[in-house]
Amino acid sequence: MIKNIFILSAFCFSTIVSLGQKKFAQLDIELPTPNEYRNASGGPGHNYYQQKADYKIQLTLDDEKQRIYGEEIITYTNNSPDHLEYLWLQLDQNIFEGNSDARMISVDKMENFKSLKDVKRKLFEFDGGFKVELVQSTSGQNLKYYINKTMMRIDPEKPLGPKQSISFKIKWWYNVNNRDFIGGRSGMEYFPEEDNYLYTIAQFFPRMCVYNDVEGWQNKQFLGRGEFNLPFGDYHVSITVPEDHIVGATGELQNANNVLTEKQRNRLKQAVSSDVPVMIVTQAEAEEVEKTKSKKTKTWVFKATNVRDFAFASSRKFIWDAMGVKIGGKSILAMSYYPKEGNPLWEQYSTKLVAHTLQVYSKHTIDYPYPVAISVHSKQIGMEYPMISFNGGRPAEDGTYSKETKYGMWGVIIHEVGHNFFPMIINSDERQWSWMDEGLNTFMQYITEQAWERNYPSRRGPAHLITDYMRGDPKFISPIMTNSESIFQFGNNAYGKPATALNILRETIMGRELFDHAFKIYCERWKFKHPTPADFFRTMEDASAVDLDWFWRGWFYTTEYVDISLDDVKHFQMNTANPEVEKALVNNQPYVQENYISNLRNQKGIEKTINEKDATIDDYYAKRDYQKIDALDKAEYKRVQEKLNAEDLALLNSNKQFYELKFSNLGGLVSPIIVQAKFEDGSHQDIYIPAEIWRMDDVTLSKVFVFDQKVTSFRLDPYLETADCDLDNNSWPAVVQPTRFQLFNQQKMNENPMQRQKRVEELEKKGE
Ligand SMILES: [Zn+2]
Repeated sequence: MIKNIFILSAFCFSTIVSLGQKKFAQLDIELPTPNEYRNASGGPGHNYYQQKADYKIQLTLDDEKQRIYGEEIITYTNNSPDHLEYLWLQLDQNIFEGNSDARMISVDKMENFKSLKDVKRKLFEFDGGFKVELVQSTSGQNLKYYINKTMMRIDPEKPLGPKQSISFKIKWWYNVNNRDFIGGRSGMEYFPEEDNYLYTIAQFFPRMCVYNDVEGWQNKQFLGRGEFNLPFGDYHVSITVPEDHIVGATGELQNANNVLTEKQRNRLKQAVSSDVPVMIVTQAEAEEVEKTKSKKTKTWVFKATNVRDFAFASSRKFIWDAMGVKIGGKSILAMSYYPKEGNPLWEQYSTKLVAHTLQVYSKHTIDYPYPVAISVHSKQIGMEYPMISFNGGRPAEDGTYSKETKYGMWGVIIHEVGHNFFPMIINSDERQWSWMDEGLNTFMQYITEQAWERNYPSRRGPAHLITDYMRGDPKFISPIMTNSESIFQFGNNAYGKPATALNILRETIMGRELFDHAFKIYCERWKFKHPTPADFFRTMEDASAVDLDWFWRGWFYTTEYVDISLDDVKHFQMNTANPEVEKALVNNQPYVQENYISNLRNQKGIEKTINEKDATIDDYYAKRDYQKIDALDKAEYKRVQEKLNAEDLALLNSNKQFYELKFSNLGGLVSPIIVQAKFEDGSHQDIYIPAEIWRMDDVTLSKVFVFDQKVTSFRLDPYLETADCDLDNNSWPAVVQPTRFQLFNQQKMNENPMQRQKRVEELEKKGE
């Protein structure tokens, strides 16, 4: 026994000191020391700086060879206090070179080769990557440069000093990738029936890397997943395409008179003040255009101010619609470009979704600052750029579509348009931290979806939807604070978990008012700047007066999960000292175990015991009436009453019900405890206990609750808000949920419900 006690106390000591207190320790070592560039409250410091990169680009899209030819003049301004001996640029197209790191490090297995298409894809030879033809100063001198895979270093003649600018010219071309064969965020889709192409083009020009106080040059190679980190600047882009193409791009069209018909210009004017989409190019008009191919070209000119990137889409297949959205006293053009293959879904929903997304995000973050926002239909992907995004969601060929396709299309448009805010404006480093844009954006996507349709079946955001992932195989879970390239289960980890964490902060730990205020402050502080995780963590805490270090530590730096178990409930009532009350509760035969099996059987099995047969056997103890109140009992109670004042006496007789609940933290992640008590009269009470209850011991604890009436049941996390991974240990008494199991498979494969409805209507027509 002594040994056991010793072991037990040693165990308690180690858990209390090393775990409980560690979980609530402040994030000191984990976060960088605040400095003049980034302050301790999470805002830009008094010497915060950022670089500027302005681009003047001339581009030709060769529709016959599916090639892009480009020439750019980059003007790079050094606002840092440093002398830059070299400049780094990103050559993202180079991941399509045959021996690129992205290709060489991709792992595959023979079991994944399931069709000829898979084999073809493996063998597919593609001459991808930038062919850089020239790097020159604006006066025509060749500049020294070196290409290291997806990065290019340019050496200026002398180091670029603080507050100095340099302009230089680059000329290049590259083959546009077919997404069907080799994927890619940028690329083209081929429509064999009409021999037509639809281009959604991005990462098409050598782009400046970010240089800042955090990373120096952020020149981590592009391996395919960790996205981009780009400085802000102004863009002037001329795009020459076949004359019959329609082009949508980042920025404002500068030469509508040259590229649009009078009819199109008038419709566009009408759209600015319309709160429903106006067709600029109708489906009938687009179908007419896609029948022939013009040999002539046209040049579309766009200008964009204070953006971190530029993308565009071009095709003769485009249907085009637009509407006006009023935000912060400004009118923004929400627009969509899509081929007939996107209809009927796209004409009905795309532009309205763009407008709705801008409005909801603007309310929760910052007012959308750009003049246009565009959604372009692209078969499978979802990809974001400033003012423009490429989004999937294609109906079946007969124009029907499944519910999944509809919600998939809605979700991806909200998500990609939402990326305008994170990371296009609140410009975090995607190459390093996927969660900073994907997580924050997915959180806002959830809020936007719920404001679009009541009870929208959002995939990510609600706490209870993340539990399967969080309690999954620990080998395949990474902390949120993991570099983009090394994350297991990218969707759950970079999108789902951080979005859920923010939802839990908003609904449970901070409350909507404090959260919304702090979140908006973060967005205002870091719009058109480069925030880091520490800036986010610090701002959310600093603006709310809620200590969140334990939350960031648990949710962002570990893979622990929430599982709080209600292990035990004990019920107590106060002894009133009143013999009238207390004696009535006393059993006359206190040592008899009524339900003991022998007792039950002996009632009949023993006909008569000795004391039942022989009256001389029973003495005082056998005959004593334990419930009888005698003079001494009364005198003692009187003495108690005299000692107590009226208030104490009332409390003693209040019939309060005491419950001692024992909890254990099985998942490791500390969390608030939310207890719901249901009472005999059918009412209930919810009690919220902050996570700090675990600060001394994060393994087990008990707490006493006092109620005016008896509790019929307790339930933890009754509103599913904490991501508790095992609900079976949350109830007292335990609750059993029946599951219906299916014996017959009633679904016909490969048929969506709209197609089924067609069959129903056919049957009904036949009178069956
Ligand atoms: Zn995203």
